Amino acid sequence: MDCIFCKIVAGTIPAKKVFESDQVLAFEDIAKVAPVHVLVIPKRHIESVLDLSPQDAELLAALQTGITSVAQQTGVAGTGFRVVSNCGASAGQSVFHLHYHVIGGRELALSLG
Ligand code: AMP
Repeated sequence: MDCIFCKIVAGTIPAKKVFESDQVLAFEDIAKVAPVHVLVIPKRHIESVLDLSPQDAELLAALQTGITSVAQQTGVAGTGFRVVSNCGASAGQSVFHLHYHVIGGRELALSLG
């Protein structure tokens, strides 16, 4: 297993967990870009959003539950936050295990590019 996020799921490398359910794990990003920067991932290895299919509807609902829980626990639900999933190298994806960045806790620039 050569995937860093699979190793976090397996517990072989540490992470600051924020949320966990049967299918989903959320943990603090190691290089925060904002006071709140949490990654929400499926426990199953899926490379990117492109690899999700209609069969993953239940998993997508579980991921959204994780995102909502993270937003509520960290307080950004009340102030505003951004959810981002980079797909592919040109978009800045550096870990090829699907993840949603939940970013907030400060004023965020409007530019997405
Ligand atoms: P991306 O560039 O969109 O693929 O996002 C990958 C994110 O994973 C980056 O924001 C990294 O800081 C973060 N990251 C990499 N390794 C770890 C780790 N061991 N624990 C927590 N976050 C990590």
